[in-house]
Formats: sequence, C-alpha cells, structure tokens
Amino acid sequence: MLSVESAIKKLRAIVPQIKDYETIPLRSGVGRTLKRSITAPGHLPPFDNSAMDGYALCGPKVIKPGTRFTVVGDSRAGHPCGEQLDEGQACRIFTGAVVPIGTTTVVAQEDVLNGESDVMVNRECVGAENIRRRGMDAKKGMTIASNRDVLSPYSVGWCSAFGITEIEVVRRIKVAVFSTGDELRDPGEDLQPGQIYESNRATLVALLQSKSVELVDLGQLSDDPDEINKSLQSTAGQVDLIITSGGVSVGESDYVRPVIEEIGKLEFFSLALKPGKPLAVGTIDNALFFGLPGNPVSTIVTYLLFVAPAIDSMSGVPWHRPTHFQAKLTTSISHKSGRREYQRGVFVGDDRQLRVAATGDQSSNRLASFKDCNCLIVVPAHRDNLEAGEMVEILLLPNQRSIY
Ligand code: AMP
Ligand code: MG
Repeated sequence: MLSVESAIKKLRAIVPQIKDYETIPLRSGVGRTLKRSITAPGHLPPFDNSAMDGYALCGPKVIKPGTRFTVVGDSRAGHPCGEQLDEGQACRIFTGAVVPIGTTTVVAQEDVLNGESDVMVNRECVGAENIRRRGMDAKKGMTIASNRDVLSPYSVGWCSAFGITEIEVVRRIKVAVFSTGDELRDPGEDLQPGQIYESNRATLVALLQSKSVELVDLGQLSDDPDEINKSLQSTAGQVDLIITSGGVSVGESDYVRPVIEEIGKLEFFSLALKPGKPLAVGTIDNALFFGLPGNPVSTIVTYLLFVAPAIDSMSGVPWHRPTHFQAKLTTSISHKSGRREYQRGVFVGDDRQLRVAATGDQSSNRLASFKDCNCLIVVPAHRDNLEAGEMVEILLLPNQRSIY
C-alpha cells in the first residue's frame, strides 16, 4: 500500500500541463489561471485626488489656526475645477476630486469655519494632508497579477481599476465524469429491487463547479468490461481528464482497473488511506485517469486529496496542500494504525482555539457523516485510537457555508 505522500508524488509526475490559452473578458475571469502576468498600463490613481470632503489650500508648510483662505473654485469627483491655486487661495473639494495645481494640503470640512467667500482653518495643519497621490496604489508597469495566479474577485476589481477589459488565461480543463455500477439509477428514475440512486456523479459534478473545467457528464456505465473499455477509449481522445467512480476494487464485478491496464497505463492502485484504499490512477493516451472508489465518502475524500489539486496543477497552479489548522479534539476517535484516515468533523472556534468533533459513524458508505461537517480530521497512519483533548490537524472543506 502506497502512502498518501508517495501517491501524490507519483501523481505529480504524470499530471499533464495544459499549454493552450484563450483571451476572455476580465469579468468572466474569476477562477481562471492567468497565462501571463498583467502589468499596470498606467498609474493608479491616475491623478492626485482628495481623500476628504473639505478644502484644497495653498499655504505655507505649517498653517496656523485662524489663517484665512479665499475660495476661488469647486472641484467635484469627475468635475475638476480647472483653477490653479496661488498662496492664500482655497478650492472647495470632495472625495475623489482632482486636487488643483498649487494645492499644498487638503483640510477636512470639519476643520474650517466658512465665511461668505473665504474659509478659516481652525486647527494647525502640517505638510500635505488628505491627498491620495498619483501612482500611490500602483505605478505604471508594476505587476498587478502574476502568471499562474488564479484570478480572484478582488483581482478582477483591481484590473478593472486600470481599465483592463480582457485577460489571457489557460483554457479550461476538459473533464469527463462517469459512474459505474449495475445497481445505479439516476434520481427521477424508478428503482427496481436492489437498485439505488446514484450520488457520486452528482457530488463530483457539484464539486467541479468551482474549478476551471469544461465538464462532460457521461452518465453511468454498467459492470461490463467491454462497455467500460469502449467508453473510456473513445472518451480519452476528447478530454484531458477522466474520472470514474466505482468498480476499482478487487470484486468480481470490478472491471475498471483491468480495463485501464489493457488500454492505458496504471500508475498506482491501493493506498494506505481510509476511506479510499482502492484508488486507481493512470493515463489513457494523453488523458489523466482517476478511478475513484465507489463508496460515496471514499469518492469525495479521494477527489479532494488527489483530483482537485491535480486539476489546478494541470492549468499551471503550483501544487498546494489544502488549508489546514490544528484543533483540539473533543471526541475520541477509534482507529487502527496502518492507514492515514480522514474523518469527517465539525470544528468551532473562538479567538483562542479551534475545537473539533468527529461526526459519528465514519463508515465509507455513510454520506450522513458529511451532514453539518465542515472539515476533515487527519488521523496519522502510525496512530491507534485518539483521545479527546489531543491536538489534531484538520482540513477545511470547500463549498462550506460562507462566512460572508
Ligand atoms: P464499488 O466500488 O463499485 O464496489 O462500489 C462500492 C459501493 O459504493 C457499493 O455499495 C455501490 O453500490 C456504491 N456506489 C458505487 N457507485 C456509486 C454511485 N455512483 N452512487 C452511489 N453509490 C455508489
Ligand atoms: Mg460497483
């Protein structure tokens, strides 16, 4: 049995890199990987502007309380005043408005007393205050997003502030998803005795929503080696990645693994992992192949640990470990040493410590263990039972209820 680390190492060695790219509107760029760095086409802000509603003043470096200034104009956001200030002159100004030439400082409106045509400063002002200088956010030519960055909503805003409308990104990864099993029916169909509704493809398709993929849901394959063989072979030429669930164990109806050995290359199979021991990873032609185990919890855990980072890595994102924290266990965990286990857990935290509890029965068929779950608890392979009070590593789950 391969350790999780060794399996990841083997996987990283065979993950293909997608080189093709496309130009897309900036506004549809969230989640896409940048093909090249973006440099600032100009300064931001593009001109000196006011950080306050108040008055732009032209005066000495230190302005004493009681000093008067003659108001000669008015500068509003989008409507510069066009006047140049001379010593002793002021301009009414609003946040974001152009600071007139000659301005030495901007004073907030609460710090002046208004007369008919002049203002009197009622506190000491030293140096240039409340002016947002041209280029203070970014200078022309600065890198504002780097090659291989995954574009966030914040980067979209940041690029938009420079007037950028289009970006070059790695094309979406083409992913095909199958489930296998004679017992499976899609929700909406009638169940015959011994049949169950399929859920793995549903979960995978839902998880893949947050990835930069072009997804083809190819439905179900029966436990028939010829059908599996033909379907996988014909799909391999059309996609970058094939994911199947089920049929990878050593049971008599488990045909996925022998088929991969026949039509592709099996890199590894059987991991020191719980749930998810029978995970088949390999290639069929140029497509990467993941044969995920059929038990629904195993499908999810192996997707999170192997498939999700592989998809990111295919578009050039550096391989990353999922976000992890230390938390204090509030339940005991029964475990036999040998395989690393990922139990479903619920963490809560205050500003001092995170605490985590396992979600009851952890059988790999039991999707109920994901109810209310917001993390995976890592149980090291070398450990037997864990006691309440121990510190454990937890991994945050994607798509949990947002904190905003
Ligand atoms: P297998 O890996 O094919 O032996 O399947 C292991 C268990 O997972 C069996 O109980 C299957 O019925 C179940 N299973 C396999 N695929 C799915 C699926 N797509 N949705 C729900 N359960 C599944
Ligand atoms: Mg099966």
